[in-house]
Amino acid sequence: MLYKSLNLQSPDVHFKKALTDGLASDKGLYFPKKIEPLPTSFFEQIEDLDDDYICFKAIEQFIGDEIPEEILKQIVKETINFEFPIIPISSSIYSLELFHGPTLAFKDVGARFMSRCLAYFNREQPSQKNTILVATSGDTGGAVANGFLGVSGVNVVILYPQNKVSDIQERQLTTLGQNIKAVEVIGTFDDCQAMVKKAFLDEELQNLNLTSANSINVARWLPQMFYYFLTYKKLKKENKPLIFSVPSGNFGNSCAGIVAKKLGLPILHIIAATNSNDTIPNYLEKGNFDVKPTIPTLSNAMDVSNPSNFVRIQALYDNDIHQLKAEFSSCSYNDEETVEGMKELFEQFKYVSEPHGAIGYLGLKNYLSNDSSSIGAFLATAHPVKFLDTVEKNLNIELEIPSSIQSILTLKKEKYTVKTYEELKKFLNS
Ligand SMILES: *Cc1c(COP(=O)(O)O)cnc(C)c1O
Repeated sequence: MLYKSLNLQSPDVHFKKALTDGLASDKGLYFPKKIEPLPTSFFEQIEDLDDDYICFKAIEQFIGDEIPEEILKQIVKETINFEFPIIPISSSIYSLELFHGPTLAFKDVGARFMSRCLAYFNREQPSQKNTILVATSGDTGGAVANGFLGVSGVNVVILYPQNKVSDIQERQLTTLGQNIKAVEVIGTFDDCQAMVKKAFLDEELQNLNLTSANSINVARWLPQMFYYFLTYKKLKKENKPLIFSVPSGNFGNSCAGIVAKKLGLPILHIIAATNSNDTIPNYLEKGNFDVKPTIPTLSNAMDVSNPSNFVRIQALYDNDIHQLKAEFSSCSYNDEETVEGMKELFEQFKYVSEPHGAIGYLGLKNYLSNDSSSIGAFLATAHPVKFLDTVEKNLNIELEIPSSIQSILTLKKEKYTVKTYEELKKFLNS
């Protein structure tokens, strides 16, 4: 499969290069040159197909012959080797729980897929080592670290801002050992990101083969369509049009849902629900793309004011805003509304959610208030325990800590602390 850069200045590349580059040399996002819908018979029979096969068929054309079929099947199987439960909330609303992976975040899916593809390509060239360098404000780092743990030929360096991630998140980064190194930066998340960008442009670090693992990487973005397919499979028997509501920050997850739809998956509509960082809802309503400074919110994994993947969503609709608005919408909820949503889910439906999932719920509820013939699923993107304080305080409950978290609470945090880029560079070269 060939990928083009959405800035149209770089040459087309194969999947492997799109994966290892992350971003094209003209700074554009990679985008599949062609999306071939799956046959309608595939969707008619989907209830009889097994999950591994469904997801393999969904991703197959995006990899082409660059990974042999049997190996790609194995990669897909390992990517989705945990549960994606669909919990009925009301007669028309379901929660699609994406937080049963190793780090309790939906980002596990993309990270597991990407790491295994990279491991395959490295096996071809055992002499070549890659270094994954990633900045995290919380969730991404843990999922990437876990996804790449023990993958041969790959070193992972995770930068995070000192005292600005939760204790559980820091433990998920600093207790793994092996090929995972955590670097605490005395500064903000933006400082971490600035260091990562500088490192990618640094000629003196070329020998490290730096690779990014953020959501703009095609190998993290595309496998996110898997759970849309699996949800359709489970809800097909309801025989009603299906809506998805996706709590959105960088819009990679909602964009993967649109790819699933382009492959022919019968989805009526996709809602990208945001927090107060409302650039896209505003743009769709008023037509001007006004990027304001990022506002910190309770749903901090979505504190993004200039979502990188929105250009991909536009490309999926041939940059035609009317086509786009017919199938896709976006709405925004502030912290007060988010907490109300969490309380409503708990009090009316006995369902414990955290701020991100609650925003997805609110977006879906709002849409269905004007459409009584459809059903919908909101994506529960993180385990409530990852936002422990917010959940316990507002719902007045005590959460049980899952065993996967309990087991890291006693391990020693191993980290390296840097203040300047020069210090980071010294560490990378050591
Ligand atoms: C990353 C993240 C999101 C946002 O996903 P995007 O693909 O960036 O829109 C939502 N919820 C949680 C918990 C996340 O970690």
